[in-house]
Amino acid sequence: MKYDIAIIGAGIVGLATALKIKEKSPDKKVLIIDKENDVAAHQTGHNSGVIHSGLYYKPGSLKATNCITGYKMLVDFCEKNEVPYDICGKVVVATSKEEIPVLNGLFTRGIANGLDGLKMLDKDEIKEYEPHVAGLEGFWVPQTGIVDYSVVSQKMKTLLKQTDTIFALGSKVTNIKITSTEVNIIAGGEEYQSAQLINCAGLHSDKIAEMTGDNPGIKIIPFRGEYYTLKPEKEYLVKNLVYPVPDVELPFLGVHFTRMQRGGVEAGPNAVLAYKREGYKKTDISLPELFETLAWPGFQKVIKSFWKMGMGEFYRSYSKSAFTKALQKLIPEIVADDLVKGASGVRAQACDRDGGLLDDFLIHQTDRVINVLNAPSPAATSALSIGESVAALALK
Ligand SMILES: Cc1cc2nc3c(=O)[nH]c(=O)nc-3n(C[C@H](O)[C@H](O)[C@H](O)COP(=O)(O)OP(=O)(O)OC[C@H]3O[C@@H](n4cnc5c(N)ncnc54)[C@H](O)[C@@H]3O)c2cc1C
Repeated sequence: MKYDIAIIGAGIVGLATALKIKEKSPDKKVLIIDKENDVAAHQTGHNSGVIHSGLYYKPGSLKATNCITGYKMLVDFCEKNEVPYDICGKVVVATSKEEIPVLNGLFTRGIANGLDGLKMLDKDEIKEYEPHVAGLEGFWVPQTGIVDYSVVSQKMKTLLKQTDTIFALGSKVTNIKITSTEVNIIAGGEEYQSAQLINCAGLHSDKIAEMTGDNPGIKIIPFRGEYYTLKPEKEYLVKNLVYPVPDVELPFLGVHFTRMQRGGVEAGPNAVLAYKREGYKKTDISLPELFETLAWPGFQKVIKSFWKMGMGEFYRSYSKSAFTKALQKLIPEIVADDLVKGASGVRAQACDRDGGLLDDFLIHQTDRVINVLNAPSPAATSALSIGESVAALALK
């Protein structure tokens, strides 16, 4: 069979894109290819499960606009499809005087991004929301919520199957040829023909783009994020979500506490270089992939700029007591014994040649191909909105 649109990647971005294509154009023949045997096997199934409000992002950026629209679409999707979620709100807290101007800037940005009901909190008011959190000042974000993105993705898969979308799971894409009339995709030993291709391959999106002949000038750098879990008898320390003031130079939000939709409370994620694109354990190493990362001129500049912060993250990754110390800034009464090693996830963060860790989503279109090249957090929250834009590009 020849397809109208083939999508590589059955993470939440690929699935949401397929849903939007079928919503707008039900007759299109859509194929979703993934190398894993089920959906949501990588970033989508290994994240914090937060429905982001759109607080952090530069007003007008793709992250800001897609997060705010995607948030509403996601909540609507969960309502319609009986996917459990909880808009529980979160507190962001400054724990040192130096962080207060950044906290205030973030509050102003939230208002600029259209968030209602943000409320500045002094240190006593913080305790009304989170009794065990110590901060000098903070604010309350009522819109933030939690959901299990694996559950969302399974629901999307079920809906797509009802629309006759074909899934080729367990099929790794190894080669792509583009002719004047079609795209030929070799995956799992089969050859698929499609009029168009959409690349939503997350940690491998740059590799897939290269296979299509696109050279967008970025490399995906894998940053592992490790979590600890609070012991059940210590879960009372966190009511909902507790976030620090982030480092504005970096596209990561800092180690936070998250009550999970599936139960339990996680603390994390940190951000350390993964030695393999899907390297969930410290011992996962791929020498060719590591060499490729280290040889990328942009990454060498990242090391020069952020080596001090990187060393700190690396140290905390190996030392539970150092990780605990970082958490104690938010909740002083936490001790190492309250924490059990949890899961981890790997972020696909695009880095350009000049050492910029791309701050915004990046979508690059060439003849017959749309490459989604930078879709880190909050892309799970934003997926339905990103999917709508990508579907519109494909159907134009
Ligand atoms: C630690 C962590 C915490 C996060 N927390 C949040 C959060 O709280 N809220 C939020 O909104 N976002 C969060 N994010 C970001 C969010 O998870 C991602 O932005 C989102 O899941 C990206 O989805 P995706 O579909 O682009 O990628 P993925 O989910 O990674 O999917 C890509 C798919 O492509 C497939 N693939 C790759 N190469 C090939 C190939 N050659 N052939 C076939 N298939 C291939 C992979 O198997 C994979 O299934 C977090 C991410 C991480 C890692």
